[in-house]
Amino acid sequence: MKNKFVILLSFIFLILSGCSQNPFTGKKTLALVPNAQILPMAFQQYDQFLQENQVVENTSESRMVKTVGQKIATAAQRWLNANGYQGYLEGYQWEYNLVKDDQVNAWCMPGGKIVVYTGILPITKSEAGLAVVMGHEVAHALANHGQQRMSASQLQQLGAVATAVGSQAAGVSEENAALLNQAYGIGTQVGLMLPYSRSHETEADKIGLTLMAVAGYDPHEAADLWRRMKAQGGQAPPEILSTHPSNDTRINNLEVWADEAMAEAKKFGVTTFKR
Ligand SMILES: [Zn+2]
Repeated sequence: MKNKFVILLSFIFLILSGCSQNPFTGKKTLALVPNAQILPMAFQQYDQFLQENQVVENTSESRMVKTVGQKIATAAQRWLNANGYQGYLEGYQWEYNLVKDDQVNAWCMPGGKIVVYTGILPITKSEAGLAVVMGHEVAHALANHGQQRMSASQLQQLGAVATAVGSQAAGVSEENAALLNQAYGIGTQVGLMLPYSRSHETEADKIGLTLMAVAGYDPHEAADLWRRMKAQGGQAPPEILSTHPSNDTRINNLEVWADEAMAEAKKFGVTTFKR
């Protein structure tokens, strides 16, 4: 009974808070669970993930993940401020961790909680290559793609869970943790994850390029990075490719958009781009 009430309440809340414009995509997005509700749950889930996995600390690589992450986060804040969205990152608690795992993958949860797996570093190769991946994953989070790839009923369930967590009535159950993980591409079983749609990939590519350029990295690195990623394909494609469809059109687009991203970054006074 109480449970039903919570679901009903959160459903009403979802409808009331339904339509908001995303600053990065300019799109009206429907029925998103607001940050105030989803962030506490994401933070809890992130901490649990870190406890259950091997976090790499105090190596040059782990420091590079933090350096690039901080620069991308600063770039996002600068871009938002310049475009009149000062409060958009309210409640964010950025964190950037390198986790020892052979998976070729990385992700960003709502609230700026990022994980990069060591398995992706041989492909990213440089700081700029890492900025491509982190910029892209942060872009998915900022554009709220995780929630958008959930079905209406999953979203409703997540809203109910978020309400419960927010009111301290319950923790994140295993089932709901799985829901959250699936929405944000966390986890090891690729088969359980839904790939992002082509349009979400395109958005994340574009936004990611702008973020990395404003952060001072050469966005032309992106096309090369995805070429290297594609070359890893074949029998066992990298996890990130399973959730992030890649093709030649995309790589061609990245080349074109890189120039636009650089032009955008120059408006922010960025004149040198690390390759
Ligand atoms: Zn993606």
